[in-house]
Amino acid sequence: MNLYLGIDFGTSGARAIVIDSAGIIQAESQYLFADSTDNLTAMWREALFSLIAEIPSEIRGGICAIAINGTSSTVLLCDRTGNPIDSPILYNDSRGIEVIDKLKEIAPPNHTVISATSSLAKLLWWQDLIPPLVRGARGDLHFLHQADWLAFLLHGQLGISDYHNALKLGYDVEKLCYPEWIENLEIPFKLPKVITPGTPISEVTSEIAASLKLRKDCVVCAGTTDSIAAFLASGAKSPGEASTSLGSTLVIKLLSSTRVDDAKYGIYSHRLGDLWLVGGASNTGGAVLKSFFSDRELESLSSQIDAEKSSNLDYYPLLKAGDRFPINDPNLPPKLEPRPENPVEFLHGLLESIARIEARGYELLKQLGATPLSCVYTAGGGAKNPTWTKIRERYLKVPILKPTHTQAAYGSAILAMRGINKKI
Ligand code: ADP
Repeated sequence: MNLYLGIDFGTSGARAIVIDSAGIIQAESQYLFADSTDNLTAMWREALFSLIAEIPSEIRGGICAIAINGTSSTVLLCDRTGNPIDSPILYNDSRGIEVIDKLKEIAPPNHTVISATSSLAKLLWWQDLIPPLVRGARGDLHFLHQADWLAFLLHGQLGISDYHNALKLGYDVEKLCYPEWIENLEIPFKLPKVITPGTPISEVTSEIAASLKLRKDCVVCAGTTDSIAAFLASGAKSPGEASTSLGSTLVIKLLSSTRVDDAKYGIYSHRLGDLWLVGGASNTGGAVLKSFFSDRELESLSSQIDAEKSSNLDYYPLLKAGDRFPINDPNLPPKLEPRPENPVEFLHGLLESIARIEARGYELLKQLGATPLSCVYTAGGGAKNPTWTKIRERYLKVPILKPTHTQAAYGSAILAMRGINKKI
């Protein structure tokens, strides 16, 4: 039997899921990251190998393809043998603020890379502040994303990435090349060759096949980012299908036949086969609910809300002033008044107001040219609230569906399956 392994490196841990050709999960393993470590890449390597080693041997021996997702914009600098020469810079590290003016000078106006946490900002930071010891070896250094490096550990080919991870490095996902303004930068590191996510790269090295008892012909495919892997897991596949994540913040992703980018609202599109995955993120969401209610209160108070009725309250729930999507106003004040004494009524108003912001977000994507919404899969802590789902259906006016799967590792396993079967 041919099996497919997806590996997810998330923010707090890593997970592996093996599926068969019908998409049924055959094995799962998990690795929780230590809270602090002085050698992050050694921990990642250990996590990768132990996740694979924990898969029961009869299943492991059936794996014919592997794909790995990492956190978007987590990057590394390695020597020519693939050894990291400095600590990786993590997805949320904003040291790139030091080079933001330079970024604005070199990138086209409003480009996605103009952000303190973009991969390109991290590259420029490294370029200026590279440890003196390795300055001599600059031309031999490889700039990689987390997923590229982890895959390299299995297939041994240094310097290969995918166009999901490479978007925030400035790669042109429409023309499928690095743009001229990057080529002209004379970057002193080797940039990865960028291929379609899921493309078979190479079989695992013979050392890896022997030590991890994998098939010698097990192929490693190009990976993706954690949020795209989670989207692939959800089951959404046609234009108009979307996923909303109701976590600490509200994140929406809509599969569209047309590409939409609008830096003003922080909207950008990932390429997904012949389609585009258009996304936007608001600062409203579960973190505001959490500042007023415990998870238990959210459950018990929600069950007392009549979801068919309107609360007549119109809030803009934020923890602090400012939002970008669907309202671009860095000074937008949180609106949480009037506050009824009854907590059920207050929560009713909050849930409705967040649903209204979600609907406005999808409406904005449509106005900017995206395919109109047809259904929404929901992930995150808020997905388990049936009252909220009913309220959201009232505002979104489309069915809200339960994702087939929510684990990013499942999405990466699907990517490996499609890649090896040439369905990408
Ligand atoms: P993240 O990973 O973004 O931090 P999660 O997806 O784990 O977030 O979701 C956590 C959020 O879900 C919390 O902010 C919490 O307020 C919210 N949450 C938890 N339970 C419920 C519920 N029953 N109804 C609505 N929101 C909930």
